[in-house]
Amino acid sequence: MPRRPLIAGNWKMYKTISEATSFVEEIIPDCPKGVEVAIAPPFTALYAVSERIKGSLLKLAAQDVFWEDEGAYTGEISPIMLKDIGCDYVIIGHSERRSYFFEDNEAVKKKVSAAIRVGLVPILCVGERVEQRKGGKTFEVVKEQMLSALNGISFTDKVVIAYEPVWAIGTGLTATPEQAQEVHGYLRQLLREEFGKEFSESVRILYGGSVKPENISGLMEKEDIDGALVGGASLKASTFLKIVNYGRI
Ligand code: PEP
Repeated sequence: MPRRPLIAGNWKMYKTISEATSFVEEIIPDCPKGVEVAIAPPFTALYAVSERIKGSLLKLAAQDVFWEDEGAYTGEISPIMLKDIGCDYVIIGHSERRSYFFEDNEAVKKKVSAAIRVGLVPILCVGERVEQRKGGKTFEVVKEQMLSALNGISFTDKVVIAYEPVWAIGTGLTATPEQAQEVHGYLRQLLREEFGKEFSESVRILYGGSVKPENISGLMEKEDIDGALVGGASLKASTFLKIVNYGRI
């Protein structure tokens, strides 16, 4: 079965409720059917966007989650709360969470398990920093990040992996399609060794890092690139629409 492409917009800490709902109203009519499109607004806009996209094909993602279902954890949001609000996906282990909020592989693993437990699909982010790439450590880093986070999951669970080289996030530097494919192919091979052929062939591996209308088509031509996690270029509806309609515009 061919994998259905997934393009997810990560809005980070941008957009009020009215900006978020206007954006989705603008993109819903022009989203392609053959590509799954998801957006990840900030927590404050999730409910309004969830209500607005009902009946459309657009999917909703959160940008983070805590691993407990409830409790005295001031400021945190639980997987059950995200499910309740209508989320389908949750981004976990984004490099900004790892670097600014000190999330380590152990925290990421707990979040992945918690998301799966309530039926949310984790979009697990992995990626090397520039000095790790220069030091020839890319494979080692992404292997540790991915396998530690997936430790304990079952081959019937649904997950999405996002390969996001840290040096390409928000910098304007994109990995070439060949550089991205090299890592995507490696990640799929690891998934096959750990969880079997069927699982590895069903998992979508997204590329993230300065994706824009000009580079999406080249990336999507590669065998193991199944979509994109888009930051900056997902904030303007007309630009995001060009990305999700890659190959048509
Ligand atoms: C991201 O935030 O996941 C991302 C890839 O950002 P950008 O597209 O801006 O590099």
